[in-house]
Amino acid sequence: MENRLYVVIPCYNEEAVLPETAKRLKAKMTSLIADGKISTTSRVAFVNDGSKDRTWELIEHLHGEDPLFSGINLSRNRGHQNALLAGLMTVKDRADVVISMDADLQDDINAMDEMIDKYLSGIDIVYGVRSRRTTDTFFKRVTAESFYKIMDKMGAKTVFNHADYRLMSKRALQGLAGFTEVNLFLRGIVPLIGYKSDVVYYERGERFAGESKYPLSKMLAFAVEGVTSLSIHPIRLITGLGFFIFLMSIVILIYSFIRHYIGETIQGWTTLMVSIWAIGGLILLALGVVGEYVGKIYLETKGRPRFIIEQFLDEPGNG
Ligand code: UDP
Ligand code: MG
Repeated sequence: MENRLYVVIPCYNEEAVLPETAKRLKAKMTSLIADGKISTTSRVAFVNDGSKDRTWELIEHLHGEDPLFSGINLSRNRGHQNALLAGLMTVKDRADVVISMDADLQDDINAMDEMIDKYLSGIDIVYGVRSRRTTDTFFKRVTAESFYKIMDKMGAKTVFNHADYRLMSKRALQGLAGFTEVNLFLRGIVPLIGYKSDVVYYERGERFAGESKYPLSKMLAFAVEGVTSLSIHPIRLITGLGFFIFLMSIVILIYSFIRHYIGETIQGWTTLMVSIWAIGGLILLALGVVGEYVGKIYLETKGRPRFIIEQFLDEPGNG
């Protein structure tokens, strides 16, 4: 096997980090090639996500200087997840294996060696997992970690503390290509592909230049996207709540009757109390039921592959 590696890197306004990133990656790729782990035609593919600065010019320049660097220019800003997918899908037929990472190299590129080793031993998907977050600010750490926990509770199963630093084999990429959904949350989809997977731990460093392109507002939007694109759990919550409130209405009914017979109520209070709770509960329950169907339609429209076959043992020419 050739083991042609493509490193896919989405870039949005990254002129401050690109030259250094390119330098470090070149050294890493050269050493991987020298060790015979990846083919000499391996590449680093930068995806320009509609940057407003000189990012694309820099990528063009890098490509002109050294064939190691390739560039993919998106027509406009489509966000990190889409840019990453664009890169992966563009290189999928040329690459035997891809690694995706951020342009700021906050994810330790030395973990690439271990990822490749695992790949060479037959693993299809290797997740890079942050072992510690000491370099992130307290705020970023707390928000990011609660992000993973809430996501998990809401039914969006992801690998804890794994961002988009991961290795995927060619067939895993082909599996990913089968997910044609528009609402994209790669971290949630990749585990759905299946095949053998493993994790590699690394320490997350600081962004060495430029600013984060993921402020809290984008992170929240990302979390909502993650939950709503992966699960219909929130709908279940509504159904559950409706059921609970309806049960409560029975409790209120008993309570109101007791008060009524003790004679502590004014005219009409009992009926009013009971109706408010019963109707409120029924409305929520009905909403939840409608939601269940909407959720089903939603999942259907995604048209996800229902299965991906890993092996087919069959003797050709039988019968
Ligand atoms: N990014 C992108 N499009 C966007 C926003 C970000 O391609 O609209 C890229 C960005 O260039 C970087 C990666 O996504 O390579 C992660 O962004 P960043 O490092 O700013 O996020 P953080 O590490 O702070 O979460
Ligand atoms: Mg970063």
